Amino acid sequence: MLYQELAELYSQIEGTTKRLEKTEILSKFLKKLSDEDKDVMYLLIGKIYPEGNEKEIGISTQIALKAISKSNGATDSKVLEMWKKIGDLGKVAEELSKQKKQTTLKLVGKLTIQKVLENLRKLPELQGKGTISLKLLLITELLASASPLEAKYLTRTLIGDLRIGIKSSTIREALASAFFSGDARKQASEKIQNAYDKLSDLAIIFELSKKGIEHLEKVSLKTDKPIKVMLAQKALSIEDGFEKCGEYLAAEYKYDGFRMLINKKNDSVDLYTRRLENVTKQFPDIVEVVKKNIKAKSCIIDSEIIGYNPKTKKYMPFQAISQRIRRKYEIDRLVKELPVEVKAFDIVLCNDEDLINSPFEQRSKLLKKIIKSEKYKITTADQLITNKVSKVREFYEKAIKDNQEGLILKNLNAPYKPGSRVGYMLKLKEELRDFDLVITGAEYGTGKRAGWFSSFILSCMGNKKDEYLEIGKVGTGINEKEDEGKITFKELTKQLKPLIIAEKGTSLQVKPKIIVAVTYQEIQKSTNYSSGYALRFPRVNVLRPDKPLSEITDIKEVEDAYKGQKKK
Ligand code: ATP
Repeated sequence: MLYQELAELYSQIEGTTKRLEKTEILSKFLKKLSDEDKDVMYLLIGKIYPEGNEKEIGISTQIALKAISKSNGATDSKVLEMWKKIGDLGKVAEELSKQKKQTTLKLVGKLTIQKVLENLRKLPELQGKGTISLKLLLITELLASASPLEAKYLTRTLIGDLRIGIKSSTIREALASAFFSGDARKQASEKIQNAYDKLSDLAIIFELSKKGIEHLEKVSLKTDKPIKVMLAQKALSIEDGFEKCGEYLAAEYKYDGFRMLINKKNDSVDLYTRRLENVTKQFPDIVEVVKKNIKAKSCIIDSEIIGYNPKTKKYMPFQAISQRIRRKYEIDRLVKELPVEVKAFDIVLCNDEDLINSPFEQRSKLLKKIIKSEKYKITTADQLITNKVSKVREFYEKAIKDNQEGLILKNLNAPYKPGSRVGYMLKLKEELRDFDLVITGAEYGTGKRAGWFSSFILSCMGNKKDEYLEIGKVGTGINEKEDEGKITFKELTKQLKPLIIAEKGTSLQVKPKIIVAVTYQEIQKSTNYSSGYALRFPRVNVLRPDKPLSEITDIKEVEDAYKGQKKK
């Protein structure tokens, strides 16, 4: 298949904001897609491998910019200037490609999906010094033979900013519509979602959808694929918890750490965050613990990872260890300085048996059986099974005294629902005034902060996918000097620089990627920001590298919090 066909599809999907139209366009395309070209499914969401694969394209805008200038015979400064004006590197590549002389266009129109994937997949293999020129070669080779439209989407794919507004639900609906009709279609849509939550592999889901509903139904968990985790709803009170969970419930400590899925098959262990990022390399300590303390040939375990001070052995808040998720160097030092303990709380596969539909009580018992508890290495979550409100209250107070966030109340009879917030687990915690927001802009600092970004534009999710609405600016809560667990201006600047999308004077627009938990004093109505609201005294509490962009605070939550605050 030619890449041009995919570029045209992207363009059509981008051309409409209507979800139904997007679905129809995609459905037509999928009907024609052959099994041979199934990896196109990854490219549809801007990826080259299924979710959970650690190999990502990872090209900074700076390298992409260089490749664009090289492949078009333009200077870097010209490309930079166009980028500042247009604000979309993809469009810059398209423009320049249009202006290219006819003589260089011999190869245009020949780019195949296979070739694109082949080159893109070589990029993550090139690590370390001296690889930039090799990366440039691979990218320029593609861009040089790309049509203007191909250049646009290739560039956007490279920098991880496809901007076509396609949600996973659109892909699910399009698959259902392509391969099923009538009553079967609605049923298929649900089965496709279930299968996807278990496998997280769009190319396989495409193949199975094509084969028929019974093939989707047969999908079982695999230790080499991450599943989407089950999410918690809020409990308004302990009584509310009982109402939703039943006469008896399990209350567990809500640890202040980060979620981790542990997939084990014999001696091979894979660790994933709830964003389905593969973080095995960052946690060799956990890999060892899993091999030693989990007595099962194969398993998929859901857990919370918490950090403790290696000297005092005191548990520390999430922010202190959050850097362990992202850091890919000096891992041995971090393992010693920021040790972690696994708090396992669920199991969905054990010795190849799929336990998703077994009741939680049974899963929990099995978990306790196969884990050899060792303090500061791995234990199961502290748990209380009861039918008494007063007992839960005592347990809650104990959790708070132990520096944890509160409790998670669990329905003992419930199955595990990957990817859903169905109310089988409820969080009971002190409500802080905080939002999880994404940084969409930054400004250079002056004086002591010269050379760093010192002020950051925060945005919440809008009503539409890919729509981010500004809600304030923050510079507080970030440190000038290194301090235990706190993010510094230097580090944040380093993380944001490769994400720059447009630059005007000292202000920059950045790709929405870095998520921060922000506390604030009050929400006000405001015409200064596109959300219509502004946060008073916002303060960055902690970076949330574990959280997916799709789960940040949305405008509805902001409105609700604003209304709630007025009532008070
Ligand atoms: P949200 O999930 O609402 O987006 P959040 O990331 O702050 O926000 P919460 O919903 O507050 O997380 O709480 C659910 C999280 O609590 C789980 O995703 C998990 O990481 C964590 N957690 C800690 N202890 C447990 C436990 N015993 N059982 C289940 N989850 C736990």
